[in-house]
Amino acid sequence: MSKVLLISTGGTITMVREKVSGALVPADMETFKAFIPELFAGEVEVDIQAFTPLLDSSDVGPDSWRQMAQMIADRYDQYDGFVILHGTDTMSYSASALSFMLENLNKPVVFTGSQLPVGVLRSDAKENLLTAIEIASAKDENGDAIVPEVTIYFEDRLFRANRTTKRNAEHFSAFNSYNYPALAKAGVHITYQPHLIHYSDPSLPLTLHTQFETNVAVLKLFPGIQPSVVRALLRTRGLKGVVLETFGAGNAPTDHWLYKELKAAVDKGIIIVNKTQCNTGSVEMGLYAVSLNLMKAGVISGYDITTEALLTKMMLLLGERPEQARELIARDLCGEMTID
Ligand code: ASP
Repeated sequence: MSKVLLISTGGTITMVREKVSGALVPADMETFKAFIPELFAGEVEVDIQAFTPLLDSSDVGPDSWRQMAQMIADRYDQYDGFVILHGTDTMSYSASALSFMLENLNKPVVFTGSQLPVGVLRSDAKENLLTAIEIASAKDENGDAIVPEVTIYFEDRLFRANRTTKRNAEHFSAFNSYNYPALAKAGVHITYQPHLIHYSDPSLPLTLHTQFETNVAVLKLFPGIQPSVVRALLRTRGLKGVVLETFGAGNAPTDHWLYKELKAAVDKGIIIVNKTQCNTGSVEMGLYAVSLNLMKAGVISGYDITTEALLTKMMLLLGERPEQARELIARDLCGEMTID
């Protein structure tokens, strides 16, 4: 019998409506389990570990990422796979972070949640959770995990975690992976796409990385952006890294002041990475003249990476390997970006 560890961090999937305020708050795990008796009736043995207290994912950050990754590392040999229940709002950040924290991962880590709380009749909780458990325990004919990477399963798709973005606060298909195809689709059968799955070298041991540098920022450009705003951000004391959200294929206004501010920040050792504001497509610095200044200033291309993956990768590299961060951030570490 396969064994899966279910780690519950909270999120809508675990929530009930509070009587006084009417707002959704996380319920306890006993209440949650009572709604899904199927969890313990299938072919997979499921153990549960829950955060105390359970969290709305707006309150999840580096400390919680460490807690999740440590729970997996501590029990890595005891389970065939791991499922993490998590709020949808910041799931892509957490799942991206874990994809970089768990180096040489050879077992499935599947994040899931739901748009409606588990107790609501039309809830998507049960289907998402039960399918995530099936994926976390799925093995091929050699007994190897079919999807040994960090993923998000939602509605009927399995995505590489560090390619996802929450795209919808209303529909059941809350996530998308704009620049990389789904790793599996679930209908009557779950159809896996092995040629799209990332495999680590099975001879290498799992290596856990947990140091995050949180002195980073996202700077989203817009037409008319003022020097004072850019200056205030780039001159923030202690700043180590910036995700620069640019237009189209990685373009920016050609104002000389912007070039000067970016160049001064890079010269001070701040890592600035170019990420397009478009969901689909890639940064191509040098394609248009309006991106030449960014290249000259020392801004690095983020190609087709998501903001969620870039930010968490930057925080971890700056925390763990500050000397090599500039070089490593430009590399594809575990399938998070396509470098052509
Ligand atoms: N606010 C909730 C959370 O992210 C939303 C959800 O789970 O869908 O925890």
